[in-house]
Amino acid sequence: MTTKSNHSALTTALSQLHDATKLLNLSDNQWQTLATPRRTLQVAVPLRRDNGNIEIYHGFRVQYSTTRGPAKGGVRFHPEVDMEETVALAMLMTWKCALTNLPYGGAKGGVAVDVSKISLAENERLTRRYTSEILPIIGPDHDIPAPDVGTDERNMAWMMDTYSVNEGFAVPGVVTGKPIVLGGSLGRNSATGDGVGIAVREALRIKGIDPSSATVAIQGFGKVGYWAAVACESMGMKVVAVSDVNGGVTGFKDVQTLWNHFQTNGNLNAPGTDSITNLELLHFDCDVLIPAALADSITANTVDGVKARIVVEGANGPTTPEADKALIEKGTLVIPDILANAGGVIVSYFEWVQDKQNYFWSIDEVKSNLDEILMRSIKEVENLSNDKSVTWREAAMMIGVGRVAEAHKLRGLYP
Ligand code: NAD
Repeated sequence: MTTKSNHSALTTALSQLHDATKLLNLSDNQWQTLATPRRTLQVAVPLRRDNGNIEIYHGFRVQYSTTRGPAKGGVRFHPEVDMEETVALAMLMTWKCALTNLPYGGAKGGVAVDVSKISLAENERLTRRYTSEILPIIGPDHDIPAPDVGTDERNMAWMMDTYSVNEGFAVPGVVTGKPIVLGGSLGRNSATGDGVGIAVREALRIKGIDPSSATVAIQGFGKVGYWAAVACESMGMKVVAVSDVNGGVTGFKDVQTLWNHFQTNGNLNAPGTDSITNLELLHFDCDVLIPAALADSITANTVDGVKARIVVEGANGPTTPEADKALIEKGTLVIPDILANAGGVIVSYFEWVQDKQNYFWSIDEVKSNLDEILMRSIKEVENLSNDKSVTWREAAMMIGVGRVAEAHKLRGLYP
């Protein structure tokens, strides 16, 4: 990112885990177990370009934990994907699934590729070959991929088809975030943003700010950022600034008008808007800041100018440990990623359950179950944070990591 510090996503994730193991009084042996991924797979992904050239890309799949159930996590297509980042994101998925009490471990995968530089046909061939390379370790009872940065329901359809063709019959439950006609769930597209909206609503309640007077700035206008913007606006908040990889804008009429312009023109500069830089977006004078792009956007270098009283982490790992400390010292309420963006994996879980049962739910059922599960976790975190005088991140990590540690203990060690 333009604002990147020297922090790696893995350093941040290990530092958060370290803090949690100390707060939970876990032993060195437990720390070692929790800090080590169960299975890492690196694969070569050869791609025949449209012009006949063959290029080799690097692909990854990490099953960080399978202690509480099958591994579960997204697939990222981005030039900076590497093993370290994939391990970090798979670790976060593990704590997220445990915090929300889903019957999953944690996983992540990806390919180091810039999707803006390949054609749709090339994207399909790359997705299918990547799927084929990781095929031995995925499956509805083993490891269930989903979309993340740079992938969407189209990629999930190709992954589901590649897996199914190899099995000889349709296996919808091998991925989540699929198109509805292939066994996807209503409400999955908007789920992460819907969950971010619920977290914002609760954070405003705690800070005593009326949603109808609240202002929100969002970094990243992708699957998470857009739906978070829609959710906030639908609760009466004013989205005052958004950005993407090319910079940001303010002064737009409403989210839908901006989105329509973005879809048609591929940029955020709708008529009547003013351009701002990504740093100006982070420092925007507003009540709520939602980082919803990549890791390491709020760092020691950028944190001083953050004015928002509430930060809701739509992205995974957007705040480095130094910046986190500085925000807490300022009195900013930080709703951590493993809670704030858990809506995506919660509705992925609903999709997997529906696929297993071959019985599909209404949108109202999906939305009310999402609200119920996320609110249960939010309340648990809020209560623990108050009882133990710890931050929301510390409380969320204590619950997530604590559940995985307990599961290890109860299962024991084989042999
Ligand atoms: P996406 O690819 O749909 O969107 C990413 C957005 O970030 C795009 O608008 C892109 O332009 C923007 N961006 C990239 N680099 C940027 C930069 N330097 N500055 C500002 N904006 C930049 O991805 P997504 O699915 O929306 O994921 C965003 C974040 O949310 C990631 O951290 C991801 O891991 C996390 N997340 C996603 C889901 C999900 O269901 N998709 C679930 C949980 C967490």
